[in-house]
Amino acid sequence: MAALLARQGVASLVIEADEGYCSGSRAICVSRRSQEILAWAGAAAAVVAKGLPWSGGRSFWRDTEVLHFEMPSEPTQRFAPMLNIQQFYVEEFVHRALQGAPGLADVSWSSRVDTVEQDEDGARVQVSTPVGMQTVRCDYVVACDGGRSTVREQLGLQLEGIQYEGRYVIVDIVQATKRPVERLAWFDPPSNPGSTLLMHRQPDDVWRIDYQIRDDEDPAEAVKPENVLPRVQSHLAMIGELEPWQPLWISIYNAKCLTLADYLHGRVFFAGDAAHLVPIFGVRGLNSGLDDAANLAWKLAAVLRGDARDALLDSYSVERVHAARENIAYGAKSTQFMAPPNFAFQLLREATLRLAVVDTRVRSLINPRQSAPIAYQNSPLNVAQADAWSSELAAPGQPAPEALLVAAHGPFHLSQAFGRDFVCLVFNDGALPGALAALTAGGVGVLDIPPEADSLGQARQRYGLPTGVTQALVLVRPDGYVMGRWHGHDPRPLLEALAQQGITP
Ligand SMILES: Cc1cc2nc3c(=O)[nH]c(=O)nc-3n(C[C@H](O)[C@H](O)[C@H](O)COP(=O)(O)OP(=O)(O)OC[C@H]3O[C@@H](n4cnc5c(N)ncnc54)[C@H](O)[C@@H]3O)c2cc1C
Repeated sequence: MAALLARQGVASLVIEADEGYCSGSRAICVSRRSQEILAWAGAAAAVVAKGLPWSGGRSFWRDTEVLHFEMPSEPTQRFAPMLNIQQFYVEEFVHRALQGAPGLADVSWSSRVDTVEQDEDGARVQVSTPVGMQTVRCDYVVACDGGRSTVREQLGLQLEGIQYEGRYVIVDIVQATKRPVERLAWFDPPSNPGSTLLMHRQPDDVWRIDYQIRDDEDPAEAVKPENVLPRVQSHLAMIGELEPWQPLWISIYNAKCLTLADYLHGRVFFAGDAAHLVPIFGVRGLNSGLDDAANLAWKLAAVLRGDARDALLDSYSVERVHAARENIAYGAKSTQFMAPPNFAFQLLREATLRLAVVDTRVRSLINPRQSAPIAYQNSPLNVAQADAWSSELAAPGQPAPEALLVAAHGPFHLSQAFGRDFVCLVFNDGALPGALAALTAGGVGVLDIPPEADSLGQARQRYGLPTGVTQALVLVRPDGYVMGRWHGHDPRPLLEALAQQGITP
């Protein structure tokens, strides 16, 4: 959040209770969309250099492979569909990138927010620091203080939703392996009958192993090394991973599907786990938190600069609460499969897995459906379609599709142009129309896409340009979402749409 605000030229102070980056095993899978956001924060190169990219996975029932899935992926892509990397590296690399914006984002370590009071003009935050209590006065507070948010408690707010009973032990171990990087899942494996087990490779020769414990097992007993290590050893032996290994970290987890009803309360925003808790299956935790930050940063910056009305901030809550509810729905489905909450779900899962051995059509039901950016179909910012551009691809409210262009200075991915300003994609059949100077004058970036720059045809195909239409404008928001699209090259409806929202970029 601080890094994206700094990119917008907005100063912030990060108040962090811990003395350093997070420890232990937390998020490990970073989606393609998150890698784009991390690029805007200046950290993608380091994250990609350290991380392990992957694009698919396998599921096994007992000892039979019942699913081999591949996520959309092709050689011209900028980022892999998914990248495994420990969360503390992501935090470190973003923090390092922040050093390039001195004065715009300071981090106050070992400092805990105790109280938050707000008035019409801002908020007063009391912070316990190593040198005593301090008061910080600010325009806005963004509560990114995690699942046990102090700020949420201060404001007397409650998360809504459900918490599942099924528990998973999470174990990180160090072991050298040559196995490809894939998401691996076993249901009822011979190594641990009755359990479900997931494995992911991480950098530094670390395996992340998650396995379900029985409902009647005591969680405190379940995490004791004498109970964990034999189960891990049994599984490693089963899959032929015979190198010596040692445990790094053991914890226990149960899935939660919880969200606040609103992420904006006066001068206080909620983002990340402070706003919503989603199951780890499908990896929507860290990834959706990054999307919260990308959504909020440009809106807050525009309001603080006086380039937009306060009402723009309401759309943060509308869009991101919607996204959290979608993420929760997907996450709940995955949880019901990974840790069936009752006998009926258990029976359905067993039937699906048995059938999947013999019937390939059933296999898609096992597909874990990893995190993907959520469309904001009903966002108040979407511009209604005035013409017959009916393609669902890149419709208003959709994440703007990626495409590789061939620019004069070399290959260029569209997502490199997003992340700070409004950008208008100008599809044309030749020379850039002069009328578009009005867009630049109106503060909207112009990205010219003549046919020769789109020689792979990706942009025209992925933006669903109707057959026969050669001239079109697509307005992309600073967070890489489509706001509106028009046939022809008349910039006026586009500028009017922004003005109607009270936005003067
Ligand atoms: C075992 C496990 C596995 C996971 N795997 C994945 C995965 O593969 N992919 C994925 O996307 N997500 C995953 N997640 C979820 C992911 O870790 C969280 O969603 C993510 O860390 C949320 O980020 P956040 O910044 O909102 O909160 P946090 O990472 O919890 O950060 C909150 C910060 O606020 C600080 N803080 C708390 N209270 C105060 C206070 N009063 N004052 C000042 N500072 C305070 C804390 O010290 C902490 O640094 C996993 C989580 C767990 C537990």
